[in-house]
Amino acid sequence: METTTLGAAGAPATTTAAPDGVRDGSRDARAPGWSVGVDVGGTKVLAVLLDPEGRVVRSHRAPTVPGPDGLLDAVTTATRSLTVAHGLPLERLAGVGIGVPGVVDPVTGTVEHAVNVGVASPFALAAAASAVLGARTPVRVENDLNAAVLGAAHAVPDPDHPGDARDLAFLALGTGVAAGLLLGGSLRRGTHRAAGEIGHLTLVPGGLSCTCGQRGCAEQYASGSAIDAAWPSPDGRPAPAVLFEAAAAGDPDAVRVRDRYAWAVGACVRVLVLTCDVDRVVVGGGVSGVGEPLLAAVRAALDAEAAASPFLASLRLADRVRLAPAGVPVGAVGAALVGRGEVV
Ligand SMILES: [Zn+2]
Repeated sequence: METTTLGAAGAPATTTAAPDGVRDGSRDARAPGWSVGVDVGGTKVLAVLLDPEGRVVRSHRAPTVPGPDGLLDAVTTATRSLTVAHGLPLERLAGVGIGVPGVVDPVTGTVEHAVNVGVASPFALAAAASAVLGARTPVRVENDLNAAVLGAAHAVPDPDHPGDARDLAFLALGTGVAAGLLLGGSLRRGTHRAAGEIGHLTLVPGGLSCTCGQRGCAEQYASGSAIDAAWPSPDGRPAPAVLFEAAAAGDPDAVRVRDRYAWAVGACVRVLVLTCDVDRVVVGGGVSGVGEPLLAAVRAALDAEAAASPFLASLRLADRVRLAPAGVPVGAVGAALVGRGEVV
C-alpha cells in the first residue's frame, strides 16, 4: 500500500507501509505510545511511524528542501502522511521526534548551525511544528547522531544485556565522521553539545587539510568523502561499493586504498572504546551500505593492531564493531523514540 503526495518543492514524496507491519489502524489507534520519527538529512527526509511496541509500521521519504520553512514543512507533511495513511488521529500520537544534523537544544527544541539543511541562525523548530500540528502533539528535537544512537540501541540486539541501558556508540561514516554516544543508558551530549566529534581528532600529523582548519583529521581518511576523493566512482555508483568490489577482485591499488580506509575507521573505533569503553560501536552512515566487506576490513585492521599489543588484544576491539542493520532506518527510529519521550 502506497500513497503519494507532493513535497514542498513539488518533488514526489512517498508513504509506504512496512511489509510486516500493516494492520487495521482503527483498532490499534487506541493504543498509547505511537510516535513519528523524522530523520532530516542533507538530501532526504526519512520518517517512520513507530507502534507502541517499537516496530516500524510505515515509512515516508521526501527530498530535503533547505531552510526553516522547508524543514518545518517536511516534518508536518511527513507526520500527517504517516498518520492519515494508518488511520491514526494526530491526538493519539505520544509525540513527534525530529533528528537534525546541527546544534540542537533538546529542552527548547531550537536548531542552529544546521548548515546541511539550510538553517544557520536559531530556529525554534519544535514550537513551530507543534503550532502547525496542534498544541496537543508534543514535538521534540534532537541532534541526528544522538537520535541514531538511540535507534541503534533499539535495533541492534545485545544478547548480554537484553533490554538494559548500556554503553554504545554510533559511528557515522558519511560526508563527515562523527559519533553519537549512549553511556550508562544516557545520551552524552557534552557541555557544548560537541561530544562525539571524533572526526576532527588528528589521525595523520601534518596530513590532509580539513574544513575545520586543522590538518590530518580522521574525517579526511575515514569518511565517505575520503573514499570519493581516493577512489572516484567511474559510473555514478557509490564510490565505497566500487572500491570494495575492486579490492575484492584483487586490484592492488584498491586493496591499498581499502586497507588504509579500514585502518582509519579502526582508529575511530579505538578512540571510542579507549575513551568510553562502549560495549558496541555500531557503524552506520552511507559507507556502511558496503556491508560485510566493510566490517571484515575494519575488523582485520583492528586485529592486526591487536596482534602487536596485548593491551589492545585484551580489549577485543574487533568484537565490539557492528554494522547498523540494513533496512532499519536507525536515525528515524531513534527520532521516534525521542518523540515518545525516551530521551535519556
Ligand atoms: Zn577537521
